[in-house]
Amino acid sequence: MGTTLEVKSIDNWINTKSKPLIIGGPCSAENKEQLMATGRAIAKLNKVDVFRAGIWKPRTRPDAFEGVGEEGLKWLLELKKETGLKTTIEVATPEHIESALKYEVDILWIGARTTVNPFSVQTLADSLKGTDIPVMVKNPLHPDLKLWIGALERINNAGITKLAAIHRGFYTYDNKPFRNLPMWEIPIELKRIIPSLPVICDPSHISGRRDLLASVAQKAMDLSMDGLMIESHINPSIAITDAEQQVTPNSLSELLHNLIIREEFGSAEFENLLEKLRFEMDQIDHDLLSLLNKRNDKTRLIGEYKKENAITVLQIGRLRKMMEERLIFAKNLNLDKTYISKLLQLLHKESIRIQTNIMQE
Ligand code: PEP
Ligand code: MN
Repeated sequence: MGTTLEVKSIDNWINTKSKPLIIGGPCSAENKEQLMATGRAIAKLNKVDVFRAGIWKPRTRPDAFEGVGEEGLKWLLELKKETGLKTTIEVATPEHIESALKYEVDILWIGARTTVNPFSVQTLADSLKGTDIPVMVKNPLHPDLKLWIGALERINNAGITKLAAIHRGFYTYDNKPFRNLPMWEIPIELKRIIPSLPVICDPSHISGRRDLLASVAQKAMDLSMDGLMIESHINPSIAITDAEQQVTPNSLSELLHNLIIREEFGSAEFENLLEKLRFEMDQIDHDLLSLLNKRNDKTRLIGEYKKENAITVLQIGRLRKMMEERLIFAKNLNLDKTYISKLLQLLHKESIRIQTNIMQE
């Protein structure tokens, strides 16, 4: 899939305290006391670059708390003036964007429920035309990379170049132990397709519970993500939304302190040895592929022999024996059983495909 997004790196739109970019703050602005107390405590940590708060909340049921609305933007502006923290909120309608600009919100984000709808995203893109505000686009609720990229393209086409993606996990039928499955391969593929696009991880909405936050955040860092968005509330146990996943500013501080930030590139000496090891790995992969080719040649010979003698492609007894024998062989080599089972099944599937073709020729 090709795309031509024109994006500026995060350094061009925000001075971060250190790498990665850290966004923290409550799921929702609930009242002035809660927002200011959380914001002041977060500012004091001196580790968070941007303060988040949900002003309008997308809720599943109509009778749930739907956010404090524009009033909350006044508190956010006051907090920003007092502490110097930058601010970010979710916007879902042109009116939200208009209010956010009026109250000097620094960064906007588009929520997962909005990203799924191209009409909504286009309406927001149209409202953003002529502004230079940074926009972060959360992944859609379900694992659809094209839809995510499409939303980023719509915003970018409106002239927004201060653009980032937020990985907040994907809803699937069996998410355990997560609230939303991380499916790391999707943000990795996004990075592969658009290398210049900053990707920020939201461990809070992936985890759905406090005890998973640290490991998800660490994994994001080990996958070279550019930032973290973590929900933090002055008193999580009484939070109106997402109580189980929010942490106190102190716990947030501890989590950030314990993160190990590894470098993507090392010293010249390190890079040289790495290159040598990679070269050796390339050779091994080439050998493996040549062996697979030889295996297919043998499969064809067997297939033709079976055809001449009117013998079926599949002999279930042979398959079972082969699996059993290979698994024991693999076990003696200390190879992981699940990994080898999957590999053997794949090899067998390919043999069946080749031999079935021969039978039908
Ligand atoms: C949020 O950030 O509080 C939120 C509603 O997130 P999402 O759109 O990822 O569900
Ligand atoms: Mn939330």
